[in-house]
Amino acid sequence: MNLRLTNTLTGRAEPFVPLEPGRVGMYSCGPTVYAPAHVGNFRSFLFADLLRRYLAWQGLAVTWVMNITDVDDKIIRDARREGVEIGELTARYTALFLEDAQRLRMTPPDVMPRATEHVTDMVALIEQLLARGHAYRTGDGSIFFRIASWPGYGRLARLDPTQQRVGERVESDEYDKDDVRDFAVWKGPREGEPSWETAIGPGRPGWHVECSAMSMRYLGPTFDIHTGGVDLVFPHHEDEIAQSEAATGQPFVRTWLHCAHLQMGGEKMAKRTGNIERPADVYARGYSPRALRYALIAAQYRAPLEFGDESLRAAASAVERLATVLAALDAYRADAAPDATLPALLEETRGRFVDALDDDLNVSPALAAVFDLVRELNRRIDARALSTEDAATAAAFLRDLDRVLGIMEEEAEGLEAELEAMLEERAAARARRDWATSDRLRDELAGRGVLIEDTRDGQRWRRVVEAQRG
Ligand SMILES: [Zn+2]
Repeated sequence: MNLRLTNTLTGRAEPFVPLEPGRVGMYSCGPTVYAPAHVGNFRSFLFADLLRRYLAWQGLAVTWVMNITDVDDKIIRDARREGVEIGELTARYTALFLEDAQRLRMTPPDVMPRATEHVTDMVALIEQLLARGHAYRTGDGSIFFRIASWPGYGRLARLDPTQQRVGERVESDEYDKDDVRDFAVWKGPREGEPSWETAIGPGRPGWHVECSAMSMRYLGPTFDIHTGGVDLVFPHHEDEIAQSEAATGQPFVRTWLHCAHLQMGGEKMAKRTGNIERPADVYARGYSPRALRYALIAAQYRAPLEFGDESLRAAASAVERLATVLAALDAYRADAAPDATLPALLEETRGRFVDALDDDLNVSPALAAVFDLVRELNRRIDARALSTEDAATAAAFLRDLDRVLGIMEEEAEGLEAELEAMLEERAAARARRDWATSDRLRDELAGRGVLIEDTRDGQRWRRVVEAQRG
């Protein structure tokens, strides 16, 4: 494998070499479940999914961990506002996240640890920090990481070591810390907040320590890849590195990958500013989950991506072209000699696809290679230049590339029995030239979301891409 990835830690594209040959450990910061995830969040999750799929497609055994942050300041604030337990709020949004992720065909991560189920791991990590002199207690039972004790602090974000922390989740005057830059790894108990009774006293974990503890719990003290949105570089990932390496004395993550923001209307998509759209909003406007997935993965992860109707329309048309060529290949029957140039065409496409993705997951030229192939296949289908077997080979080739992309077909391939029976009835009607029945069944099937096209190879069906219904 010749994969190169741009490591935020070094600022360079580097050859990706797994720590252990043939295996990859990968951690992605998952959702904080206090609200539905927006499509900007999903850009970052689907970038990680694309990487995970590509590594697996290349034959690597990937262990992918994505956490669920189910206790933090925002969750506590919103649960209080609603007058419910935090568990009720987080269960609701965890379920919604999993449903959204599934519709967007995100590969289920191998482990999805919940922060509240790993407090013991977090406490053990904090005990290490205390024992090694990298953390200290304050009067209210909180524990802070002492940044002055960690000279490497700021390497990931390339900070001036004296720079003050900005955008921190805790106001500096809320807690009694030694240095304004220090961050809470443990928050002392407070009235009305969830609290755990632990070996380091009562309280709850800080957000940053959650990811350190959960990633190392499943991937070991040193692992290959950590992903997240670019807004997590500082302070979240900087803090993860400091507390993990200070606790274990070993290097934490080898390759840090950060996904650029999704823009909408020229501005960053962010819940804070209200400039957001959720998957459900996109579907309500008539776009399919496949089109949304396509729109979110079609640009390289480090490139800014403008999201809106223009990109969604282009995505809907792209997934439609793929569905159409696959349906045509599946239905294709011809008593023709094998196309002698097809193997070279497929080989060339595969080469372009791999070269593009190897180049820092540069998906745009990979998709261009796929669509060049689609154009060429359509031409050969129209010219009846393929044998029946060629068509099957080409369809299998496309489906193999789709193990990486996840944009070509809906998960369910067959039709419900009732619709299948209608198709058969229609084929029979056509055989006896009963056009009235044939047309009636075509319209009924269309009403059920199945489009029929009559071709030289008989009737061909496909599911309506949702955008076409509206
Ligand atoms: Zn994280």
